[in-house]
Amino acid sequence: PADKPLLRFITCGSVDDGKSTLIGRLLYDAELAPDDLIAALEADSRKHGTQGDDLDFALLVDGLAAEREQGITIDVAYRYFATDRRKFIVADTPGHEQYTRNMAVGASTADLAILLVDARKGILPQTRRHSVITSMFGVRHVVVAVNKMDLVDYSEETFRRIEADFRDFAKHLRFASIYVLPLVAKDGDNLVHGAKTMPWHDGPPLLTYLEGVAIEDVMRIAPFRMPVQWVNRPNLDFRGFSGFISGGNIRPGDIVRILPDGRDTRISRVVTYDGDLESGVSGQSVTLTFTEEVDCSRGDLLSSPVSPAKVGDRLEAKLLWLVREPLAIGKNYLLKIGTKTTPANVTSLDARIEIETGLAAPIPAGETLAFNEIGEAKLSLETVVACDPYVENRETGGFILIDRITNETVAVGMVKTVAASTRRAE
Ligand code: GDP
Repeated sequence: PADKPLLRFITCGSVDDGKSTLIGRLLYDAELAPDDLIAALEADSRKHGTQGDDLDFALLVDGLAAEREQGITIDVAYRYFATDRRKFIVADTPGHEQYTRNMAVGASTADLAILLVDARKGILPQTRRHSVITSMFGVRHVVVAVNKMDLVDYSEETFRRIEADFRDFAKHLRFASIYVLPLVAKDGDNLVHGAKTMPWHDGPPLLTYLEGVAIEDVMRIAPFRMPVQWVNRPNLDFRGFSGFISGGNIRPGDIVRILPDGRDTRISRVVTYDGDLESGVSGQSVTLTFTEEVDCSRGDLLSSPVSPAKVGDRLEAKLLWLVREPLAIGKNYLLKIGTKTTPANVTSLDARIEIETGLAAPIPAGETLAFNEIGEAKLSLETVVACDPYVENRETGGFILIDRITNETVAVGMVKTVAASTRRAE
């Protein structure tokens, strides 16, 4: 049935930890052929106003909203499969040099992360790094898959040590749930079926766990948000505003606030490719019409008037630096948030996140962010934007920074606080 709950997850690990083997063997053992059709539908989901199963297909091409908007290639493959109990979308994030960036994009929409650990090696700096990034991008649930248990003689002691190591390290990361399980991905042990080789393990196999893990659908209960992607004006009688609903739901008759201007207006219709809807929900692409002619254009954020997004031109944010050329304080970058783009610069760098612990540490004077480093920064924007703290909404609180010369995405960012400069308030 179409209303089976959906779980989006990502697999993280170093090269050769067994990520491909795990997914391949899982699908094979559960006799779940991945649905190739989905790939073909991916293109369709970009079209606005499709209906029906659109929800899932839109999620397939989900990424940071801004990345999606920029239309740059993200090396993340999404695979779809379903069991009787649940639908799954797994983000497969290949690449070596750009692994962190791909992983970040995959994590930014995932409900759960599977962190692969090689039983022979235990928790490596890389594992910590992936855990910190996963947590930073708002993934709340983690499965630590201790793989290649056959190569440590299925040793319970080795497993327990790795589990304790991880739990100790992850204390600060505030995951809502952590499940650690021993695997032999190659043989399918603890994937779909339990393992005779490891009778000391008493938890469910991976697939059973993934089918049952409770995920809160935060986007559906979030206040209404829709970044306006384009103004849809096929003829003089119709003027609609199209976009991807990034939180909550919307019905004809609802009042929305057009941000950053702050004007309220009433929704007349919620239209899709196949006709009018009684309500549009988070994850759908729709076209909205208003009861009156008001100013609204691409880049605006339609927002619940009861819990509106914040408006400002000063951000405090976390930045994950993605390129070899380090962050330059004061340099003019382009900031893309939702469907809005504005020139921006980093005015100060306040801390660096220690990748080993996930904790913020002061940054020595004169130092900046290098490739794959995470920092806490203040940004000054040329124009005001409407957005949310990332912890409240991953779509409207996530942004990217672009180099104006190379057009390269140099950083992904997460809004912590939004303020308006006094210059503007005057
Ligand atoms: P990826 O780079 O993380 O996708 O890793 P792969 O899935 O390609 O696996 C890397 C290698 O590890 C392959 O040679 C696999 O056969 C092997 N491998 C994967 N899982 C296991 C396992 O549980 N036990 C053993 N002994 N080898 C495994």
